[in-house]
Amino acid sequence: MLKEGDIMENKQFKTESNRLMDLMINSIYTNKEIFLREIISNASDAMDKMYYIALTDDKINFNKDDYYIRISLDKENRTITIEDHGIGMDKKELEDNLGTIAKSGSLDFKNNNSKDKDDNHQIIGQFGVGFYSAFMVAKKIEVLTKSYKSDKAYLWVSEEAKDYNISESKKDDFGTIITLSLKDNTDDENYDEFLDEYKIKSLVKRYSNYIRYPIKMLVEKTKPSKDSTDENPKFETYKEDEVLNSMVPLWRKNKNELKEEDYNNFYNERHYGYDKPLSYLHLNLEGNVSFKAVLYIPSQRPFDFFNVDRKKGLELYSNGVMIMENCEELLPDYLSFVKGVCDSEDISLNISREMLQNTRELRLIRRSIEKKVFEELKRLFKDKREDYIKFFQNFGVILKSGAYANFGQDADKLKDFLIYKTTKRDYISLEEYIKDIKPDQKYIYYATGESVDQIKELPQIKSIMDKDYEVLLFDDPIDEFVVKVLRTYGEKEFKSISQAEESSDKDKDESNEDSKLLSSMKDILKDEVVDVKENKNLTTDAAFLSSQGEISIDMEKTLAHMPGQEGFKAEKVLEINPKHVAFKKLKDFEKTDKDKFKLYTELLYNCARLIAGLDIDDPVDFSRNIGKLL
Ligand code: ADP
Repeated sequence: MLKEGDIMENKQFKTESNRLMDLMINSIYTNKEIFLREIISNASDAMDKMYYIALTDDKINFNKDDYYIRISLDKENRTITIEDHGIGMDKKELEDNLGTIAKSGSLDFKNNNSKDKDDNHQIIGQFGVGFYSAFMVAKKIEVLTKSYKSDKAYLWVSEEAKDYNISESKKDDFGTIITLSLKDNTDDENYDEFLDEYKIKSLVKRYSNYIRYPIKMLVEKTKPSKDSTDENPKFETYKEDEVLNSMVPLWRKNKNELKEEDYNNFYNERHYGYDKPLSYLHLNLEGNVSFKAVLYIPSQRPFDFFNVDRKKGLELYSNGVMIMENCEELLPDYLSFVKGVCDSEDISLNISREMLQNTRELRLIRRSIEKKVFEELKRLFKDKREDYIKFFQNFGVILKSGAYANFGQDADKLKDFLIYKTTKRDYISLEEYIKDIKPDQKYIYYATGESVDQIKELPQIKSIMDKDYEVLLFDDPIDEFVVKVLRTYGEKEFKSISQAEESSDKDKDESNEDSKLLSSMKDILKDEVVDVKENKNLTTDAAFLSSQGEISIDMEKTLAHMPGQEGFKAEKVLEINPKHVAFKKLKDFEKTDKDKFKLYTELLYNCARLIAGLDIDDPVDFSRNIGKLL
């Protein structure tokens, strides 16, 4: 009798292999067109292996010119043929590699031959499924192949991926010819598009542009025919071989061979932008994760920069094969203005190569990229200030949002890249502000408003400027939010000039009479302000609003436009100019006419709201009251 824990019998999983095949072919890839990328990558692998073997075996000559991939299109028979001069396969290899799902001869080759000799091969294959992706577009696949080790050629044929047969065949040279007979067109799918030269060219450019071997195709062209004259122009078509891929990508070239123009051309070719980039970086880093990258800082902000659908990130290649057009993981949000491409053999791809697994490598790459971009920005600020200012006018808002985001988690690393206009200078960094701070100056002062001109007119700014203190001018609502998360720089606190000074007893030199008046005003405005006080520094204006606490008046205005944040209000303080004629009137009315006193108080408060750029609750009432006074 069996006891608990006894094992009855080990059994193999059963697989319904046709169903599995069907599942795999139709669910791994989201995009049918990548079949060409997979077949071309296999051809490239086969030639890499040949190259590698030639390096280690004297009997084999490797003549570089013989190594190319040829694509041929046959519209009549609806076939695509891809031919290579790689190592080919013998009968057993055909069975092993193409008869077994998820068996990768390429991965075996890589494992058997790595870490020794010159590790120059860049084998792409690893999952052993790419080949079958061709069944997404082909109803029949024929593989005619001859191994470099054998004098026999074999033909492998499979229809609809149901079964396959292998027969002996004829082929002069070693290598492989794969012929895909396209599926019949349906109402939804037009497979004929893969017989179109233009389509094939664009697929090669898109996915396989940097395959190291030339990918050739006979391309139809036209030229004037022999009997063509100026009066009667005639043309004839002819076919000519064209190499469809550019092979060596810019980022794999040696920096010393490249000129600024080459980088600028690449920027435009890749449609990173239509402008001339402000700056570029060519990285070739080796380490835990090795990668190459060409990165750009654009000189202009793309028109769709703030569009939520804008694709961020860098192009990602692995072994010269395009993996992703926009890999967001390669750039932190606050550097999302950077454009470019990154190529690494060390990233883990998932089976369809459409997604990435294990983001550790990506994180390491991202960290290095961030470091390098920061260094470049520092260099620009130091050596090319005008360029930096231009950059900041375009993309500064991204750095500011980055500093503010996530409760200021990244504020520390971004703070030195922020620059501001001030009452004394055009665009300076916080470091420069601190360097020139007055010895007696306790705070870093800033003033907020809608424009620099408007800020310079603020009643409060004069007294600070009189002390010869420099004031940062914040004309972007986010500026104040950023300093709220920064709190200090160089051990000095940030302070808004609109923030009410905490009144010490020393300051309270207003007469008893005045303080009674102020407290009566405060009673009238009790729902609006937390305090009413005198400010002797005021010159022209009768009153203005300052604030206490965390939220300033400008922040209140910004928050009012943010869904869910509308409830936040600044704690307002009404500051009155005791030298102003309005103050004297108030004094009189307080004794003689309580109604007028209330009217004046409210009017003064509403005027102060207008100066601060705040709305008035009841504009009709306000203008009627002005009317009464007039
Ligand atoms: P992978 O390329 O990921 O290994 P594939 O399913 O695309 O997976 O291919 C399976 C195997 O078939 C390859 O690993 C390789 O050994 C073999 N193979 C495919 N195409 C060719 C080719 N053109 N020449 C030689 N061998 C090939």
